[in-house]
Amino acid sequence: MKEYEHSVTLDKSKCTGCTTCLRYCPTEAIRIRDGHAQINPVRCIDCGECVRVCPHKAKKVRYSKFENYRDYKCKIAIVPPSLFGQFERLENVDTVLQGLYDLGFDEVYEVAKSAELVSAYTRLYLKTEGIKKPVISSACPAITRLITLRFPYLKDNILPILPPMEIAAHDAKIRAKEKNPELTDEDICVYFISPCPAKCSYIKNGFGDYESEIDVVLSMNDIYFSY
Ligand code: SF4
Ligand code: SF4
Repeated sequence: MKEYEHSVTLDKSKCTGCTTCLRYCPTEAIRIRDGHAQINPVRCIDCGECVRVCPHKAKKVRYSKFENYRDYKCKIAIVPPSLFGQFERLENVDTVLQGLYDLGFDEVYEVAKSAELVSAYTRLYLKTEGIKKPVISSACPAITRLITLRFPYLKDNILPILPPMEIAAHDAKIRAKEKNPELTDEDICVYFISPCPAKCSYIKNGFGDYESEIDVVLSMNDIYFSY
């Protein structure tokens, strides 16, 4: 079985062993060894809580850089709604979308469009007889990994549909090929602008047997500060 690739890492030189992250980790994945935090990869769900609370910025998330993938003919940005939430007094989301084109993306696709599809499917699914309730959304990879690791008896409660960002990536690729029929899969690079490390890990590891159609994960911070 392929080893799970985590996104959260430790910069040992900055870690003082203060134990803050250890106290906040929801899965008790952190121990202090030889004066530094150590993450147990089997327990970590990449929720990012330790990144948030570390007072010494010793925890980092491994994201890719846009510059490293500039050579693709068609660069598609998959945009979650949380990107718009970063801008105070944003009157028109088109301003943000245009900014992405200006940064060098060829196509921009909003996750919100796919979330509408998932909502419609969810409403239908909830009416299905015999399903296990409560139904748990499949949108957050930290939750689905937590269930896999700690609460496997809840697996059948997870909504059986891919997360909206994955559906968005699939639709965006189809749309790009319809617009430019000469494009092949090798010409296209799909970037997800991620607000969290769990999504980054999901894309590296896939969703069960499903391999993600997203090629690269960019940090929302990097994109925000490019504006
Ligand atoms: S909170 Fe930061 S400095 Fe403190 S133990 Fe954890 S990683 Fe190290
Ligand atoms: S990312 Fe979350 S689960 Fe993993 S070590 Fe940090 S706090 Fe714990």
